[in-house]
Amino acid sequence: MDSASISGLVLAGGRGTRMGSVDKGLQPFGGSTMVAHVLERLRPQVASVAINANQNLDAYGAFGVPVWPDDTPGFAGPLAGLEAGLRRCATQYLLAVPCDSPFLPTDLAARLAAGLQAAGADLALAVTEENGLRQPHPVFCLVKADKAEVLSSYLAAGGRRMDGWYPQIKVTEVLFEDAAAFRNINTRDELRSLDPARPLKLAEVVSCLSAYDPDALPVRDAQKIIRDFVAPVRSTEQVALRAALGRVLALDVISPINVPAHDNSAMDGYALRGSDLSADGDIRLRVIDTAYAGRASSLVPAAGECVRIMTGGVMPAGCDSVVPQEFVREEDGVIVMAPGTIRAGDNRRFAGEDLKAGSAALRKGKVIRPADLGLLASLGVAEVPVQRRLRVAFFSTGDELRSIGQPLDEGCVYDSNRYTIYGMLQRLGCDIIDMGVVRDDPAALEAALVEACENADAIITSGGVSVGAADYTRQIMARLGDVTFWKIGMRPGRPLAFGRIASGGKSAFLFGLPGNPVAVMVSFYFFAREALLRMMGAEAPLELVRARSVAAIRKKPGRTEYQRGVLARGEDGLPEVRITGSQGSGILRSMSEANCMVVLHDEQASVQAGEMVDVLLFEGLV
Ligand code: AMP
Ligand code: MG
Repeated sequence: MDSASISGLVLAGGRGTRMGSVDKGLQPFGGSTMVAHVLERLRPQVASVAINANQNLDAYGAFGVPVWPDDTPGFAGPLAGLEAGLRRCATQYLLAVPCDSPFLPTDLAARLAAGLQAAGADLALAVTEENGLRQPHPVFCLVKADKAEVLSSYLAAGGRRMDGWYPQIKVTEVLFEDAAAFRNINTRDELRSLDPARPLKLAEVVSCLSAYDPDALPVRDAQKIIRDFVAPVRSTEQVALRAALGRVLALDVISPINVPAHDNSAMDGYALRGSDLSADGDIRLRVIDTAYAGRASSLVPAAGECVRIMTGGVMPAGCDSVVPQEFVREEDGVIVMAPGTIRAGDNRRFAGEDLKAGSAALRKGKVIRPADLGLLASLGVAEVPVQRRLRVAFFSTGDELRSIGQPLDEGCVYDSNRYTIYGMLQRLGCDIIDMGVVRDDPAALEAALVEACENADAIITSGGVSVGAADYTRQIMARLGDVTFWKIGMRPGRPLAFGRIASGGKSAFLFGLPGNPVAVMVSFYFFAREALLRMMGAEAPLELVRARSVAAIRKKPGRTEYQRGVLARGEDGLPEVRITGSQGSGILRSMSEANCMVVLHDEQASVQAGEMVDVLLFEGLV
């Protein structure tokens, strides 16, 4: 079944009682209306779309699609909408979705279709699993259009329950992993809080924490606030396959074909009929043709016949097994093998074994790696929808900073942070705007922030947020937007400014990192990295690995400590980690010598030699 045989129907025929008796589908959401979001996601999945509505028919008609009211009178519920759709449906199947589900899966049709066909069912509905409980979503369903009459008689008899007519048809459930995609928006509060176009306030995010003290904030709380506060940039582009390397996939890629496309041979040998294997004594089969990879045999072996076949060759009709060539003797066009050499079905690869047509080959949010390029190529995909690159502006602050090429006056240091930050952003695949050094001067800082805000999605600064720093930083950042200053329970890198600033109708997320060169990197890796990836539409949480600590490490409980380390294979072949030299927060050399960071969590106390610890590897990180 492909999308040409499926019509889409948006169910918008309810009274919207829980939303205060307003027409739900027409409620503003994400810069347009709820129903517009649903249409946008549904359209690419089906041949045509219609809306089922019982009020404001003109407003729905303005979307340029047919609007069908219920045939059964009296706001009889979603089933009456489904009935109206099935009766008017011009295709063999109808896919119904509710108008209050603006996050619906982009592969809903393909996956319900696959489930319906596999089960030979009349209706396939989506289910998800939350905390081990199966949650059916009967309003997200694919139905055979010829079931209209069964449904009409159920409704005419007074039936209203979505699942009330299931006993009269064949129903199958299709499990979806992403429960969030099926979220319904039922109340005004949900409408407001889930609206992607409405920026959250830091205070709202913070209020979700049980105890919040900005002056003693645990690392995991800071990470959670940042994660909840930042939002993906919704802008995508289509790029040629090779250019997609390292980019973030913007939509699920649904396989248009079966891979492999045909049943084929896993060996060089002879394709035969499994029924010929049941003979007693030696099995003798006449070779009638040869099938090569890319050149199939058109002959159909009869009983007692076989086809010589190469690895990847298409299985001839009627054949279901391959005997490898080394297990047979060939004499005068006849092969001979002992009984029990193979079993029926051996050495055959099934069509669609790697990937079935209609299933998701790659999920949106994935950062595309070389293997993914190959996979996409194997599907014949030439262009890939990716998120647009994230624009990140950054600058260093401090009167003592000198740029490379300038003389190093007494008491000054070269600005190294701009280079480490450049390196980390570059590896994340961002578009980078390097704004240089900004003096410790309120007017200069404000001008830099405003310029960055108007040109970038995110701003990264270093220096000027520590306790000793002049108060104007706080004042300016607070004036420009919604920014908070934290003292985080961590070492190195205690101070951090975070939030969003706005100017000239534009806004940008702000990460005010500390000035110390190592603290900058630690804060970037543990706070900014995941947030930036999230803004890029990717989900890539930090992966910690376990390794044995060679030596004892002193550590105070109550804060997270990050120690630079070198991970290597121990004598027993298992990974072990050794802390590198001095751990001072300004000492970049030990960072450069390290290949990982040992993460000693809040509650953890001193580590004994030989104890296992968490480690974050630098390579592959950014
Ligand atoms: P601050 O957070 O501004 O008080 O800076 C803390 C320490 O980090 C000071 O010793 C600064 O000189 C140093 N520092 C700040 N920014 C940079 C930078 N961009 N490159 C190198 N060192 C810096
Ligand atoms: Mg400074």
